[in-house]
Amino acid sequence: MDTVTTQTISFINIKAMRTLRDKKTFCLTLIILCILLLAAAALWIQLRSSQQDGAAGKTAAIYQDGKLLRRIPLGDDVEDTYTIESSDGGSNTIQIKDGKIGIIDADCPDRLCVEMGMISSTAYPISCLPHKLVIQIEAKDENKEDPPVDALTQ
Ligand SMILES: [Zn+2]
Repeated sequence: MDTVTTQTISFINIKAMRTLRDKKTFCLTLIILCILLLAAAALWIQLRSSQQDGAAGKTAAIYQDGKLLRRIPLGDDVEDTYTIESSDGGSNTIQIKDGKIGIIDADCPDRLCVEMGMISSTAYPISCLPHKLVIQIEAKDENKEDPPVDALTQ
């Protein structure tokens, strides 16, 4: 009888120890999983913010007379030239190159817009006052919709 009791007790002890060890392993696995998840989240956030810093995440918005004409994505591999006619018969030639945008030619009297050169920063917009044209670089927002392109000739 005594031996049976001792055996039972030691069996219970082993079982209890195993459960304890399993719990420890489970906790450790959980902690490692949490760390991995946090690392993945941090990496994802970093990747997203670095994309927004680069030219690829930027969009140039072209406004004429206070109205949005068009949004053009500014990627490093995007190279294009647009001519925008103004309501008074004038025109501005806009170039996109190397993630930058600028007015390379215009028939406005002051040509200040051409002198502003190529920009890639959201801080300073390019404007052509005589033609009421403004080019503003903005951080990309995929929820925004492109306006119709009828006022723009390529
Ligand atoms: Zn101008």
